[in-house]
Amino acid sequence: MQISGNLLIGQRSVRGSHGEIRAIDPTHGATLEPVFGGAAYADLDEACALAAQAFDTYRETSLAKRSAFLEAIADNVLELGDTLIARCMSETGLPRARIEGERARTVGQLRMFAALVREGDFLGVRIDPAMPERQPMPRVDLRLRHIALGPVGVFGASNFPLAFSVAGGDTASALAAGCPVVVKAHSAHPGTSELVGRAIQRAVHDCGMPEGTFSLLFDSGLEIGQALVNDARIKAVGFTGSRRGGTALMGIAAARAEPIPVYAEMSSINPVLLFPQALSTRAESIAREFAAALTMGSGQFCTNPGLILAVEGPELERFIAAATAALTDTQASPMLTPDIHRAYETGVERMAVHPDVVTLLRGSSDALHGGRPALFATNAEAFRRASELHDEIFGASSLIVRCPDLATMRALLERLDGQLTVALHIDENDHADAQTFVRTIERRAGRIVVNGFGTGVEVGHAMVHGGPYPATSNGGSSSVGSLAIKRFLRPVSYQDMPEALLPDALKTTNPLSLNRRMDGKLQLRR
Ligand code: NAP
Repeated sequence: MQISGNLLIGQRSVRGSHGEIRAIDPTHGATLEPVFGGAAYADLDEACALAAQAFDTYRETSLAKRSAFLEAIADNVLELGDTLIARCMSETGLPRARIEGERARTVGQLRMFAALVREGDFLGVRIDPAMPERQPMPRVDLRLRHIALGPVGVFGASNFPLAFSVAGGDTASALAAGCPVVVKAHSAHPGTSELVGRAIQRAVHDCGMPEGTFSLLFDSGLEIGQALVNDARIKAVGFTGSRRGGTALMGIAAARAEPIPVYAEMSSINPVLLFPQALSTRAESIAREFAAALTMGSGQFCTNPGLILAVEGPELERFIAAATAALTDTQASPMLTPDIHRAYETGVERMAVHPDVVTLLRGSSDALHGGRPALFATNAEAFRRASELHDEIFGASSLIVRCPDLATMRALLERLDGQLTVALHIDENDHADAQTFVRTIERRAGRIVVNGFGTGVEVGHAMVHGGPYPATSNGGSSSVGSLAIKRFLRPVSYQDMPEALLPDALKTTNPLSLNRRMDGKLQLRR
């Protein structure tokens, strides 16, 4: 399939006239063809108008039809074959295996949402039947279901060009909920975005969905993205990226006449707690796993381990020696964009010159924009005082904090910002100590990992990829896994509505055969 550089507005392919976007191959520094035209305000207006028009029809398409639509997107993405893989590799510098794995994840999550929609439990149906004879007051008939929020604006992420981009988790969960989607493509991978956008556009057509169910815009600056968040027809936003970008969009959304939720996944340093017994018995193997988790994808995972807390002593020194050796052997690959590489180098440099920080390792790389790993150490007191040491450095950089005892480790954890993950390395003899940390960790993180690292994120039903601010803007949900659909739904209660006017999901006869809570009791479909 030929990449046109055009915007996709509903079923149309439109040349953007507001500035240009060019993809860069981060491995060679070369500019890639074609030139992408940036959207003008009129293009945004059209995409939002179509999305608003589509909303009522799309959200009431049958569960079977919506589910088939999500599956059609998955099939169409796969059908792009090597064209998609090759373009994505050249726009991101990521290796083939990673891109193919990410495509499998993208397709897998679309299919997971298709199954979720078909089953219908996400509607959360509850029926409290009327009790006309109840004393002293009769009870009304109340029926609840969840409906879609409205058109959703999605910002594609740089670090997951497929799984968190145009047809990624935010889009898949919003479409599953019944929300039309307007995507603002990430400027780092416009060709990948267009290819995937066309796969969705074709599925909209083939499945008979309303035209405005999906649009894709390119932005030559920041204005169109900001205007998307500001558009009164957009009712929620999905975002993955920097804390600065995420909080800017949160500010715009909050200042609207009708404020809307922004589900932003932003920054996390993913603390790792090394407990004494685990360190004593397997410092070296934990260190090797740590090095692999830190450098995976050039460190460009929001869940990579940016902070190690451990009690000082010879066991921790064994860990440091083994981690340094493992990181020295790592060949750094190019980072996703020159800007991300520049931001990483700046963050590492800031850490290196900090008066309370010692540089343990600065890895090497032959690659252009190589994400050379960096390992630093400091002491607990300095870490407690210097909040700048708590900031995310997006890339393969980690800070080890030597603590005098476990109580200090717990006190430091207590002071940290919200995190996507906290990992504990424990042996059986550490269980009693670890138990004293669990409540604190639950308050600080979305996911608690034992004897592993949070870097890999499984897509499933029990996954939480979220956490308190600034890990995310809203710790009440997850941006990965089936729970993500919850972000784009809201409950509506129908009081004394005649059966003929009720949506099928709430009819007494249960024509959709849904599981439901009847008068408080779970009633399973036959
Ligand atoms: P980013 O700069 O926050 O950009 C993400 C998306 O939001 C892009 O589409 C960007 O537009 C747009 N955007 C950013 N600021 C905006 C603003 N003020 N108004 C409107 N739109 C805005 O993130 P990135 O490009 O992916 O990477 C840059 C840095 O983000 C990294 O160095 C890293 O620090 C951080 N990051 C963190 C995570 C994480 O999960 N924790 C993931 C990725 C990146 P453009 O396409 O025009 O740039």
